[in-house]
Amino acid sequence: MQRNLHHMADTEHDVLVIGGGIYGASIARDAALRGMRVALVERGDFGHATSFNSLKVIHGGFRYLQHLDIRRMRISIRERRIMMTIAPHLIEPLLFCLPTHGHGIRGRMVMRIALGLNDLIGFDRHPPNQPKTRLPGGHLLSKRECLQLFPGLDRSGLTGGAVWPDCQLMNSERLLMGVLHQAAEYGAQIANYVEVTGFLRHDHRIDGVQVFDRLAQEKFDVRARLVVNAAGPWVDHVLHRPNGIPGASTVRWSKAMNVVIQRKPTSRYALGVWSPYDFRDDQAVIQKGGRLFFLVPWRHLTLIGTTHTDFPHAPDSLTVCEEEVQHFLDEVNAGYPALALEADDVLHVNVGLLPRAEGQQTGRDVPLLKEYRLIDHRREHGVDGLLTVVGVKFTEARHVAERVVDEISRRVTGRWDACRTASIPIWGGEIEEWERWRGTPIRIDDITLPHDVQEHLYRSYGAHSDTVLAYCRKPNMAERILENAPVLTGELVYAVRHEMAVTLQDAIARRTDLPLYARPSDTWLNRCADVIGEELGWNPEHRRDQVAQCLSGCSWGWSSVSSSSRG
Ligand SMILES: Cc1cc2nc3c(=O)[nH]c(=O)nc-3n(C[C@H](O)[C@H](O)[C@H](O)COP(=O)(O)OP(=O)(O)OC[C@H]3O[C@@H](n4cnc5c(N)ncnc54)[C@H](O)[C@@H]3O)c2cc1C
Repeated sequence: MQRNLHHMADTEHDVLVIGGGIYGASIARDAALRGMRVALVERGDFGHATSFNSLKVIHGGFRYLQHLDIRRMRISIRERRIMMTIAPHLIEPLLFCLPTHGHGIRGRMVMRIALGLNDLIGFDRHPPNQPKTRLPGGHLLSKRECLQLFPGLDRSGLTGGAVWPDCQLMNSERLLMGVLHQAAEYGAQIANYVEVTGFLRHDHRIDGVQVFDRLAQEKFDVRARLVVNAAGPWVDHVLHRPNGIPGASTVRWSKAMNVVIQRKPTSRYALGVWSPYDFRDDQAVIQKGGRLFFLVPWRHLTLIGTTHTDFPHAPDSLTVCEEEVQHFLDEVNAGYPALALEADDVLHVNVGLLPRAEGQQTGRDVPLLKEYRLIDHRREHGVDGLLTVVGVKFTEARHVAERVVDEISRRVTGRWDACRTASIPIWGGEIEEWERWRGTPIRIDDITLPHDVQEHLYRSYGAHSDTVLAYCRKPNMAERILENAPVLTGELVYAVRHEMAVTLQDAIARRTDLPLYARPSDTWLNRCADVIGEELGWNPEHRRDQVAQCLSGCSWGWSSVSSSSRG
């Protein structure tokens, strides 16, 4: 995957995608696989915004039963199965447990019915190409079994637990990379650090965009027969750019937050914990009555989420402050006192903006938009050649991309293939039997690599582990960067040469996942900066700046934790 802006500027594309989050990347992949000439531009690094911050749950839609939304459940179940099929190295089944209480909506009888319905509606939930990966049916646990799994649960009123299967993304950044790599393999021209600053327009038709290359500090135009605005929380800002649609307003946004806790998971089940505070979802047929947190075991860490609050400000002003993090921990502790979470347990805070539903905030949470929005600006504003898409879940990005590219293929004349993203594995996912394949030993100079390094390479690069390993066979390149992390030095070189990593943060947080193993420190950041700086020809000042930037932020995604915040 190479950045070639001259080629991008010289080509008349069929589609230009604005935004390199999971939605933009999935649209680019789908369109490229159908044979379209595609360009994608991202103003920062790929996946640095909302997509970096998810709770990593690939939902099968159990919660949509509450809305009796069977159609959406079927879509989620299908998407979960497809993700297990096309990216088997990145998706793992995960069991969820929700403690049961009393005889009402949280009681065993209601849960038994819900679990039965969930199994019935998800009759085809297993991935066809991975015979060893099976999602078991839902079932009830007795009180004793539930307490064995989670000894810290409050026993009073507890009657047991309801268990259902879902899936988890082991590494969302590598999934995004796999999607982008594949789009590029099928001819898409992709670039990070290229910002859309305006539109090319003739009367009522958009013919492309004006962009600014933030690395070379140069402007140029990119021509396309159709432009798709997939800029996440910035969709309106993009529309308001020169020659765009002034005053256009798509959706309202809410601030969503998770925390990454530096504690080894004590159970392989994710646990639902009720907050003591009220929440009413006006769109739900069945009210569950409170905010539900999930404690999700994820690799060697625990994720906890998610809170949603109104955010009526500009997306660039999103921050999170220490006080908010403390409130979050207090609320989780109130729901599950045995956890006794403290600020020091927090390794990272994930924060992002999600589209919210209209209507009032009730209790502490805001209701979220339930379905993606695809806006045809010809119909809405009389401007041809431009679509805007707003997604609501990482899980549904492939499905929504299919709908968007179906629309594009109706609008842009050409002989396009049918959608193939459900059956062709993403880059790295071309693995017949993952469980058997991951056991194959990897060697460098006849020495078998330690188990954790092998697992990491297979999990990160899947079928392309060997390609990346070639960079680790050179002198000093097979060394670990951190003693306790399986990431090898050569991976940083690969990230720069083939995955457009141009900053220290790109390479360590979004191509590899080093910050999950240690808080940022001068020593290891400098070690990484030496390798990356050598590749990119950094001078000492630039190198120092890069390290300082990484040291200044606690969060590796969108915003850093500050002493006061917006929203
Ligand atoms: C806390 C949290 C928890 C979540 N948990 C889950 C979960 O467990 N499961 C699930 O399925 N979903 C989850 N989600 C939702 C999921 O993460 C989002 O739906 C998804 O990531 C949205 O992706 P996107 O591509 O639309 O947006 P983004 O990832 O924000 O991408 C938009 C991109 O557009 C770029 N851009 C903006 N302006 C311009 C411009 N002018 N030029 C070029 N590029 C531009 C931005 O830089 C950005 O990278 C969660 C979200 C949050 C915040």
